[in-house]
Amino acid sequence: MPPPPTPPPPGAARQPAGGRLVDVSPSPFHLCAEVARRLGAAGVVEVRETEAWPTEQGRYFLVRGGSVVAWSTESAAGPQSAFRIVGGHTDSPNLRVKQRPDRSSAGWETVALEPYGGPLLNSWLDRELGLSGRVTVRRGGRAEHLLVRIDEPVLTVAQLAIHLSEDRKGVALDPQRHLDGIYGVGEKADLLADVADRLDVETDALLGWEIMTHDLVPSQIFGRKADLLAAPRLDNQTTCWAGTTALLDVVDQPTEGVVPLLVLFDHEEVGSTSDRGADSDLLVTVVERIVLAAGGTRDDYHRAVSGSVVASGDMSHATHPNYADRHEPSHRILPNGGPVLKVHPNLRYATDASGAGAFALACEQAGVPLQRYEHRADLPCGSTVGPLTAARTGMTTVDVGAPQLAMHAARELMGAADPAMYTDALAAFLAPEY
Ligand code: ZN
Repeated sequence: MPPPPTPPPPGAARQPAGGRLVDVSPSPFHLCAEVARRLGAAGVVEVRETEAWPTEQGRYFLVRGGSVVAWSTESAAGPQSAFRIVGGHTDSPNLRVKQRPDRSSAGWETVALEPYGGPLLNSWLDRELGLSGRVTVRRGGRAEHLLVRIDEPVLTVAQLAIHLSEDRKGVALDPQRHLDGIYGVGEKADLLADVADRLDVETDALLGWEIMTHDLVPSQIFGRKADLLAAPRLDNQTTCWAGTTALLDVVDQPTEGVVPLLVLFDHEEVGSTSDRGADSDLLVTVVERIVLAAGGTRDDYHRAVSGSVVASGDMSHATHPNYADRHEPSHRILPNGGPVLKVHPNLRYATDASGAGAFALACEQAGVPLQRYEHRADLPCGSTVGPLTAARTGMTTVDVGAPQLAMHAARELMGAADPAMYTDALAAFLAPEY
């Protein structure tokens, strides 16, 4: 008997031509470029922070480095209209290339790498890695930014053989000594010259670079009933995909008097304090300029802020089958169980009863189940952009997410049905049926 046909993955119909967002976005810069491409294709117009913004109602976006913001004022009922905001972050933990990368040791040519954020270091070993990121080059006396993406296996971080470890249990990895990538054998390598070569510029035209590694295995739907999804950077490109898709879902049918806005910040994994992280002026500046461009006053801005609500999206821990005791026993989080509301009484998450109510209503409106997460009280809880966004803006903020395992591994795992349910909930949040 032939095997039953594999059902299409949930959300497959939502995937536009050009590939899955995660597979074409190895760095925050590529993620922003791909989100910008999708927004542009849907008629959303790019504005620049250095220029005056259009005073007409419309749909717009801007990119600031590795962060992107998009919104529509088409349904606004005056400059004091409240915002419905979905937030997320574009960066993921990985191994990044040091400024002077070339090394030689024991006949191997190696590249000096160091962790960005808190990657599960062991998961990065013994994988063939590509390179991506952004470089600044000199062009005719001016500095210009270029994206670089090498989707070929060019280096690997090799693990120490079990026979050479002291207790045959493997080694604890030292981020300074054990993470250099093997790039070749023998002849002295020059990684920056190779990058310049790819970009068709002279090596001495490279003025600055932010280059990182990525695993080359594409995302994959798999499992007994095609109900699992494995991919790199699920934290937090799941939210980037869901938020972008949700915004594009609602811009044609927005709620009267509400401005839907998507903000995806860089640098969450390293604390968000930068020119474009959640602890920057990015969101408050954009909101203020939207109000001012609509002819509003400073008082209109404060009225808009006061009525606005933020759903800060970041991934959530599903209950791990092999480590169920690491989770709060009465708050099991199931794969393919729907979006997650994250609550922490000591405000590692920003959720309060008011924000929880807004997101619970959105899930009801979308017809998807809602799961409620609390961390074990005896384990330190990670944080996310939610509390920073709440503090920077003064807006009611609720921390939400989709469940996954292996957070911060080079390759992460989630239920294949969750991205679509998460998207539907975020779309309902951006366009509430009052
Ligand atoms: Zn995250």
